Amino acid sequence: QNLIVPAASQLQLSPTLEINEAVEAVRAQGRKFVHLGFGEATFPIQEKVLAVHAQYSRSTSYMPVAGLRALRQSIAQFNSTRLGLDISADQVVVAPGSKVLLFALFDVLQGDVLLPRPSWVSYEPQVKHANKRLFWVETDEEDRHTITKQALEDSYEAAIVAGGNPRIMLINSPSNPTGQTFSAENMKVVVDFCNVKQVLLISDEIYSDINFDGESSSASPLQQADSGVPSALIVMTGGLSKTYSAGGWRVGYAICPKSEAGDQLLRVLLAYASECWSAASSPSQHAAVEAFSTSEHMNQYRKSVSKLHALCTTRLYEGLLALGLRVAKPSGAFYVYPSFQPYAAQLARIGIRTSSELSKWLVNTCGIAALPGSAFGEEDEGRIGGRFRLRMATSYLYFANQEERYEKGYDLLE
Ligand code: PLP
Repeated sequence: QNLIVPAASQLQLSPTLEINEAVEAVRAQGRKFVHLGFGEATFPIQEKVLAVHAQYSRSTSYMPVAGLRALRQSIAQFNSTRLGLDISADQVVVAPGSKVLLFALFDVLQGDVLLPRPSWVSYEPQVKHANKRLFWVETDEEDRHTITKQALEDSYEAAIVAGGNPRIMLINSPSNPTGQTFSAENMKVVVDFCNVKQVLLISDEIYSDINFDGESSSASPLQQADSGVPSALIVMTGGLSKTYSAGGWRVGYAICPKSEAGDQLLRVLLAYASECWSAASSPSQHAAVEAFSTSEHMNQYRKSVSKLHALCTTRLYEGLLALGLRVAKPSGAFYVYPSFQPYAAQLARIGIRTSSELSKWLVNTCGIAALPGSAFGEEDEGRIGGRFRLRMATSYLYFANQEERYEKGYDLLE
């Protein structure tokens, strides 16, 4: 007797967690390990934010479904300043992480989904779980994974020919797994396309403040939505997990469009939240008010975090280049996404052809955990992606040991 509904039967443990288990198995044998597989920053959390969390440890009541008013205001103000826009607290929904909000969005929105390839591991299973069809928008590493008008049109066309109903597109800049930040011009191409086709755009900006090309945070499609019409169709998500090294506190948010459709979406998300997760944790929400503030010390913290990630990234990127791997220079987030094609012949001789095989070999033989390209949509339909993602948020490569890592981290973060 099968207890599980078909849509859930196809769910599998996320490859990120799977790699963690492989690491634990190797560690249990007492072997040393470099863990470049998990998408988590290990830099110290900001002291004031930590203090506020501790101060509210006795705050055990349920929070408002939409999130603390002060937090919604802090998020609205932070993003208004960051993007030069006028975002109101009423557009904001807070949740225990942005992942559940993305899940909810795919669940409640109409139509099939266009997604750049490669893309973060969870989008594809979430889309499929919501009984939607997924159509890839192909990108190219030689082009720094830029999304071209041609690729968008090809994907849309393929969806129509296959009898699909493409009504949603998702972009993620800076990107997990490629570490690439889209330019304003590239954003414009995507926004114009979505506007013409009346496709709702979800912009996952969880890495927006980890951006190596200068002090300002990265471009958002919201800044390209000048006439007011396109912005009616853009939903942004973000959260506390990456920039603030606080994934375990579970605070994420969505900003709904300022329009009638946006108000309707917000009402539906709140109803969904009220039946599903109720609200994010109270101490975490109070701490997040401080974290998202545009105070001098938080602005400084965000700048330092970017700087620290840029240092680690450059080190890893240069090392990979020196090894002869093909890799686009990262400009944000904390990942590099090299191709092992230059070593394809040597690897084939030891029986490694796919990125999954390479990933297993790296774990078992070299003591390095890296996520295979297959986790990012690269190897379905018989394609061999030949790439793998290395997380550089880890400081193992940059700092000699744990003490030095914290010392230097604190220096830079103060
Ligand atoms: N989006 C991207 C691209 C991510 O890499 C992650 C985390 O791994 C998330 C969203 C979800 O983050 P959280 O649920 O912690 O806000």
